[in-house]
Amino acid sequence: MKQQAPLWSKTLQQIRTSVGKSRYNALFSDIYCSSFTKDEIKISVPNESRKNVFGRQYHELIGDAIRKLLGWSPRLTVSVDGEECAYGEEESSLNTFFLETTSETENDLWTVPLNPDYTFDNFVVGRCNQLAHAAAIAITESLGKLYNPFFVHSAVGMGKTHILQAVCHEIKKKDPSKKILYISSEVFVNRFIRAIEKGEIESLRYQYKDVDVLAVDDTHFFANKERTQEEFFHTFNNLYHLQKQIILSSDSPPKEIPLLQERLVTRFNWGLVARIEPPEYETRISIVKKKAYISGYNIPDNVAQYIAETVISNVRELEGAVVCVLGVSSLTDSPVSIELAQEALKDNFIQKPKIIKLSNIIEAVANRFNVKETDICGKRRLKSIVIPRQICMFLARKYTSLSLEEIGTYFGGRDHSTVLHSIEKVKNNIEVNPTICAILSDIEKVFT
Ligand code: ADP
Ligand code: MG
Repeated sequence: MKQQAPLWSKTLQQIRTSVGKSRYNALFSDIYCSSFTKDEIKISVPNESRKNVFGRQYHELIGDAIRKLLGWSPRLTVSVDGEECAYGEEESSLNTFFLETTSETENDLWTVPLNPDYTFDNFVVGRCNQLAHAAAIAITESLGKLYNPFFVHSAVGMGKTHILQAVCHEIKKKDPSKKILYISSEVFVNRFIRAIEKGEIESLRYQYKDVDVLAVDDTHFFANKERTQEEFFHTFNNLYHLQKQIILSSDSPPKEIPLLQERLVTRFNWGLVARIEPPEYETRISIVKKKAYISGYNIPDNVAQYIAETVISNVRELEGAVVCVLGVSSLTDSPVSIELAQEALKDNFIQKPKIIKLSNIIEAVANRFNVKETDICGKRRLKSIVIPRQICMFLARKYTSLSLEEIGTYFGGRDHSTVLHSIEKVKNNIEVNPTICAILSDIEKVFT
């Protein structure tokens, strides 16, 4: 029972990411998972009408989330609270903990809705994030004075939110009286719009003025939003002049955020701008081990290496892979091994090479040259057809496992030396003719 709790918690996290906070709170704040096995998940809802109204939505949302996490979907049973009440103590308290620490209410501005896992202790430092990490630690020791603003940017899933929240946790730990506001840019925009509608803009401004630390996540969301940028400009200036710490994140450096006012670009560059790079192999291994350790597992070195070799895109994916491997191990009651990891990751994490069919190649070439597929595959020797046909043969050799003879039979019954000759011609052409190279790369994009 104890091992299953993190899986349910991860499931909720996944759902929350995909449906957004308000829908998540409406549907999931008071449901419980009483059992989570490989074959079946049992949840209970507070009353009959919830079960009737949202029954199907629960099936879809939970099913999708678990498919994303584990690659399969157990059966879901929804019951009304008390009917089938068997939830384990640890599990329900864990759920509540998760929900409380992440819920955010309008009037509760100073309750920082931080993810309790996003701490410095849980953050793995490598070459990829060294600067961002060092700067983040440094600002907690010298609020508002050292790097203001602190601006961190990276591609998705590389740890921006983690590092922003780690700073907030750390400041709160050092001095609980500090007023810290962590907010996503989306929420900043929504609050601003709502305040305008209700004529409450002054009180909103006052709330932002009264913080010691303002962390705004994903500021690329301000792109193209003129009035929000205006408002944020004033918020920024107020805090900056009071030497309050400002921390920002974005998916690109300030000057590359589309349509961001020049004066904001300038201000975002005033302090320190740090980029987080994709994690290198050694860091990926450490992250895998750390994530497993946090979930209460020790993962063998060879499996950690295997996961780090297999999942290279970003840390979020890497973490998903660890959850998946540990989930499969726990639910099937088998030890974590390379074989188990291969099996667990095969559907969602291991990229299968795409099988390219000859028909896809012919179709792409015919479209590019505006000739008929039947002509390409026929016997006629018109110049307008010969070149596309030769290109088809060349691509067939490159992308399929067909032999020269087999390729010949598809293109008007030509023998293998004719096919070879055609392929050589295209190859020679590629070397001297950039136009052919460009055409080929256009065609390849279509079917690869
Ligand atoms: P971003 O905000 O850049 O999209 P997140 O901060 O949400 O990325 O990170 C995605 C996931 O990866 C989170 O669960 C986070 O804890 C984890 N993560 C990212 N970087 C690290 C790291 N260096 N060490 C440990 N976990 C990390
Ligand atoms: Mg983020």
